[in-house]
Amino acid sequence: MNDSQTPIPDNPDSFTAAVKAAYPRMAALLEAHPEINNGHFQSQAAAITMENGSLKSKRKKFFELADVFNKATGKYAVCQKGCAHCCYMPTMIYAHEAEILGQATGIKPAPVPYRDRSVVLADAVRQFGPPCPFLGKDNGCTVYDHRPLICRLHHSLNNNPNDCVVSESGTKAPIAKIDADVIEAPYHALVLRQASREPWGTIQMFFPNR
Ligand code: SF4
Repeated sequence: MNDSQTPIPDNPDSFTAAVKAAYPRMAALLEAHPEINNGHFQSQAAAITMENGSLKSKRKKFFELADVFNKATGKYAVCQKGCAHCCYMPTMIYAHEAEILGQATGIKPAPVPYRDRSVVLADAVRQFGPPCPFLGKDNGCTVYDHRPLICRLHHSLNNNPNDCVVSESGTKAPIAKIDADVIEAPYHALVLRQASREPWGTIQMFFPNR
């Protein structure tokens, strides 16, 4: 969702005292889950990609892997129910994820056409501001069990949740997090290989009238 991040060190032992003090949540997470720095999620994602199953079943497994990632990071993240700064960013989803949301809510997604990713992203940047159409009045996600992959991976290991206040130019402060690309990048590669012209866009594009 946002590119500003504090890179995780190659080795948790290389965490200096200063970095540990600045990012205690990151330090605690890496101490509790050393597998994060040992390629665990990359190898799990690669194994799913190599399976013989259908694209649909592989996607389901990517979501399950994202939930494992979410469980590990969530315990140390500053994110709490009621904090929804990230839900004001353009949330990028595939048509398949829009269908899941449509089935869960009974709202038919709009027929978004396939467009080149660079065109979609240029459009998405202009959509900062309005919240996700599924953000509830209490700032909770109304489609939590059905939320897109990107929502399951997003987190902040900063101390202050307000660092995530976001505008077109980025968040208020660099966000310490585990790089979601360990799961997101192979997920994109899988979809591009097996459904190369599947529409992709912001959640607002798929649900413009909600
Ligand atoms: S689907 Fe839920 S978690 Fe994702 S952006 Fe919308 S409200 Fe936030």
